[in-house]
Amino acid sequence: MKRLISVILTMLMFFLLIPLSYAKQGPELVDVTVDGKVIKVKKINILINGEPIQSDVPPILYNSRTLVPVRFVANYLNADISWNQEKYEATIKTQEKEIILKINSSDVIINGKVEKLPYNVPAKLINDRTMVPLRFVSEALGFDVGWIPETWTGTIDYKKQDVTNVSIVENEGRLPKIRIETTGLVSYKDIFLEDPYRLVIDIPRSNLNIENKEIIDSRGILKLDVQKYPIKEIRASQFSINPDVTRVVIELDRDISYNVNVSDKQIQIDFTNKVSNIKLETIEGKKGIVIYNTNRPDYNIIRLYEPDRIVVDLLDSLLEMNDNKLGIETEFIKGIRTSQFKPDSLYNEHDKIVRVVLDLKEKEIKPHLTTRVEDNKIILFLDDDGLKNIDFEKLEDGSRLLKIKADKRMNYHVKYDEDGKVMTIKFLKKYANLGNGIIEIRDELIDYIKVESIGDYNKVSMKVKKDILYDILSSVKDDEIKIKFNDKVKKYSDKLIVIDAGHGGKDPGTICPITKIKEKDLALKYALSLEKRLRELGFKTLLIRNRDEYIDLYDRAEKANRSNGDAFISIHFNAHDDKDISGIQTLYCPSYLSDVKTEDNYPFAETIHEELLKATGAVDRGIKRRPKLVVVRETKMVAVLLELGFVTNPNEEKRIITQEYKDKAIQGIVNGIIRYFESK
Ligand SMILES: [Zn+2]
Repeated sequence: MKRLISVILTMLMFFLLIPLSYAKQGPELVDVTVDGKVIKVKKINILINGEPIQSDVPPILYNSRTLVPVRFVANYLNADISWNQEKYEATIKTQEKEIILKINSSDVIINGKVEKLPYNVPAKLINDRTMVPLRFVSEALGFDVGWIPETWTGTIDYKKQDVTNVSIVENEGRLPKIRIETTGLVSYKDIFLEDPYRLVIDIPRSNLNIENKEIIDSRGILKLDVQKYPIKEIRASQFSINPDVTRVVIELDRDISYNVNVSDKQIQIDFTNKVSNIKLETIEGKKGIVIYNTNRPDYNIIRLYEPDRIVVDLLDSLLEMNDNKLGIETEFIKGIRTSQFKPDSLYNEHDKIVRVVLDLKEKEIKPHLTTRVEDNKIILFLDDDGLKNIDFEKLEDGSRLLKIKADKRMNYHVKYDEDGKVMTIKFLKKYANLGNGIIEIRDELIDYIKVESIGDYNKVSMKVKKDILYDILSSVKDDEIKIKFNDKVKKYSDKLIVIDAGHGGKDPGTICPITKIKEKDLALKYALSLEKRLRELGFKTLLIRNRDEYIDLYDRAEKANRSNGDAFISIHFNAHDDKDISGIQTLYCPSYLSDVKTEDNYPFAETIHEELLKATGAVDRGIKRRPKLVVVRETKMVAVLLELGFVTNPNEEKRIITQEYKDKAIQGIVNGIIRYFESK
């Protein structure tokens, strides 16, 4: 136990020692290139009004003097900076002073007068950046400069100032601004807080000394009840004395981005974003449209069609660009337009909206849009990345073709939800790599195609706008799924299809050997499905029976003839002593062997038969002439009797009782009916 305690004590000692040894090590050393040579220099910390600053190029110690990037002077000492490449001169300008520093020269020009640099360290190009002596520039601009040797820290303190007024500046057509007036240059610290939304501005080295005593209460607190969107209320108070800090709290209506601007005698806070530039840039290897903003705005994205375009509305924003038409072109983008948008019904009358319109090239595959917000930038990526092996095209006859390429032959499942107007195609992911994403189609028929990978499956969902007809062109097992889509065509509404579920009532038909399901029940199930599907497609239908009842064969034909139907489909299942026999058989009666038929029935039988085989993949048992069958002989319209499989084949029995097989068979019959009437 004693030993353990001593170990802990030793460890504690060790940790306590770390800060001491760290301090002894001195500042961090960095390699820099100066005058063509790489040297090691010390990194310097800087405190401005007691607050540490962050700089991407660190201040360094060079020849015992601290050099800072000239940008630092602009950011923290509130000066304007310009650079003359020919003369190698940096100009630092404030309202009162103009300082010109020449690289590697000990001369300095202050307000037009040439002087010697007091500490004999000129401005230098370090790592190709202009670095200027901190102490000289700071003192010349009127700041107090100090040095804390223990921590290798330079300090810059602003002169102490008074906050003399806080007010609202209202500009027609813009969101109100807040102006904090001071007796001289101040620094600030801003914090945005929620619950309620408020922005806190702390002004170090300042005292609240409002000139208009009428707007402060007995405790010296200023309170403005603004109630002008997005500002509710503003309060200002002396937050602390020694150190002297003035605090301004701005209560806001919502989470809104803001911009703080400090100039010589004021701080201005505004909420209106300004769109300053739009550029095509390469970000992480991808081409993106970058919208540069002064604040981070909220935005809406609207996709519009005919012509194809993407609209980005930046809210609470003003346009600060000269070009209203940008010649930006990509694989998908034709050009970009910007405007100060006059609010329409989507917005309020006084909203400030910058509208950016991406005009798209006319393409069948609509690009996938993703957005990213980085700092104040909004980046739009427009590509078809992430989606592979899927293709959608509009064919010459106006129909659409969806193709999905697989690595090898595979099974797939197609389902169409008529009510939700969504078609889903599912198959195992291992057969095809599609990626994830959305293909925006947005034509008059198809809305979009969404590709997702869910677990082991790929799921392709196609959202359609109207009722569609579809035709699965690929085989049951195929290395390419091909589905053709058409508008649900009105011309079918004058076609009446008579559907006859075989057997019924006292006549059960054949009995499935394993499951004992009766043919009459199976046939009715298929008949009802066929009726539903045909109605979805706009056909008129007549069911000879819609329940388990016995109807005489001649009565069936008569019922069909009375209806003046255009086609007759009788549904049956087959049986055979040989269990190995399986497949689909289509039976019909040639017109010359019928007293009532007026047209050739073979083309109808052939079309239905072909489409059935294609849709189900079943064995071809042929198209047979069966003039003895009453329902195909005594019906006036084209007629077939379909034997949709052998219940005596154990595998086929298992298949035909599944919904999957039923759906495929129904689709085959439907495709056949459509093809038959289209070819007429
Ligand atoms: Zn039968």
